[in-house]
Amino acid sequence: MNHANSSSRRQFLKLIGATALASTGFSNLVRAAGDASKHVVVIGGGVGGATFAKYLRLYAPDVAVTIIEKNKEYLRPYGSSEVIVGHASIKDITVSYDRLQQKYGVKFIFDTATDVDFDKQVVKTAGGQSVNYDRLIVSPGISFDFDSIEGLNQQVSDTVMPHAWIPGPQLELLTQQVKALPQGGTVLVCPPPNPYRCPPGPYERAGLITQYLKEHNPTAKVIVLDPKSSFTTDVTMLQAWNRLYEFNIPEDFKGYSVKALLAAGFTEAEAKAQLAELKPIKHNKPGQLSWVMGSQGGRVLRVDAKTKTVYTEGGEYKADVINLIPPMKAGKIAFDWGLVDNTGWCPVNRVTFESSLRKNVHVIGDSCIADAMPKSGFSANGQAKVAALQVKALLAGKEPQEPIFQNTCYALAGNKDYGQFVSDIFRVKEGKIVRMNNPRYLPLNLKDDDLRYALSGFYTKNWMKSFTDDCFA
Ligand SMILES: Cc1cc2nc3c(=O)[nH]c(=O)nc-3n(C[C@H](O)[C@H](O)[C@H](O)COP(=O)(O)OP(=O)(O)OC[C@H]3O[C@@H](n4cnc5c(N)ncnc54)[C@H](O)[C@@H]3O)c2cc1C
Repeated sequence: MNHANSSSRRQFLKLIGATALASTGFSNLVRAAGDASKHVVVIGGGVGGATFAKYLRLYAPDVAVTIIEKNKEYLRPYGSSEVIVGHASIKDITVSYDRLQQKYGVKFIFDTATDVDFDKQVVKTAGGQSVNYDRLIVSPGISFDFDSIEGLNQQVSDTVMPHAWIPGPQLELLTQQVKALPQGGTVLVCPPPNPYRCPPGPYERAGLITQYLKEHNPTAKVIVLDPKSSFTTDVTMLQAWNRLYEFNIPEDFKGYSVKALLAAGFTEAEAKAQLAELKPIKHNKPGQLSWVMGSQGGRVLRVDAKTKTVYTEGGEYKADVINLIPPMKAGKIAFDWGLVDNTGWCPVNRVTFESSLRKNVHVIGDSCIADAMPKSGFSANGQAKVAALQVKALLAGKEPQEPIFQNTCYALAGNKDYGQFVSDIFRVKEGKIVRMNNPRYLPLNLKDDDLRYALSGFYTKNWMKSFTDDCFA
């Protein structure tokens, strides 16, 4: 490229930086500049969208990137359960978009994306703007399936039984409810069925609330009512609860078997050694925390908001605080735009994240179907970086490259000094994302004062900061 071309392109990028985006014809402006640049529009400035925008600007500075995001600041979901127990404030989980704009030249339209014309490649917003794109990235997070539980709806969730799974008013309500819990009161935490955002998250939250109550309300109880009989990090989490909260491991829990540990990547010898040394404490009375698994009737079928009662397959539970996290599905806009299949999530090409249903549209983050990859911030961030490289290649008419992904989910057992994690590598095989069978967890035969737990707690805290910087700064 000659100097005159690149300087006119710089001029052009300066121009769009200084000018509020015109309501129409943005991409035409790009073309008017001699097709020197392309325009990529991103729906959602959460983990997936923000990371994508930043990295595409780093990989391909001549490509203009605009994020359409409904909120002026981002409340990060990861680390948000810490607000409930006072380890963090809403301010601590609030993330500014300034660095993306100032340092990386990402353009923002603070508005809700409402319509799209896939043929003309134009997105429309609630505020009446029309924005042309060469490629469209959709990362709208999640929405909830309230209808699958009788008696539950948006209003009950907003006012009585908050999920607090997207930070905002529901998180503030749940925080107030836990603080106001009467002495000896009961908190229910009801995790959703698979797949959902942040697999260890509901259990970390249950542990954090238990630890808080241990310190402030020692006769109160936390009961986890679960449709599932296993969850990511269950083997290390239950061991920690057994040590910390007089939690009795359910007898029919299947995680403590050679088969389960082989599936978690340990060798047979390692699995046998771990199980031989695993000596859960048998507590005489139920502790502050209990877990009613799916096989024990933990699945929630119905709720009564007036009497604050939850009816499960196994019985009924009246409680003072009910953190009911409903089944999840892709973000609403993905449904409105026909990007979702009958699973409730968005099918994509696992190499490029291009939608299987729409050309030149990519879906990343929690909304997309990524097989063995969990719906986590770590995953959304990795998918975004891969998608940015692939979009750069595709815009230049080049072939995409085969990606490798990783994910680490850190989680506290409840106590800040007792951390744990699950860590994985993934590859694309026969069109699906597959987990490589490496050891995923800390081994089970560590003493309860092993420094690796404290170190994992320390990593959990530090990861929040470095990860947020990687996505947004
Ligand atoms: C309690 C909890 C703990 C967690 N802990 C961890 C953890 O320790 N590690 C980890 O890796 N992950 C964790 N997560 C998960 C992580 O936060 C999510 O997986 C991640 O945020 C997904 O990114 P995303 O881009 O798909 O969605 P989001 O980050 O939710 O971003 C979606 C964005 O899209 C915007 N949007 C949606 N629709 C529109 C529209 N029509 N127009 C304009 N804007 C729109 C929204 O406002 C939002 O900003 C946790 C989640 C929770 C709830």
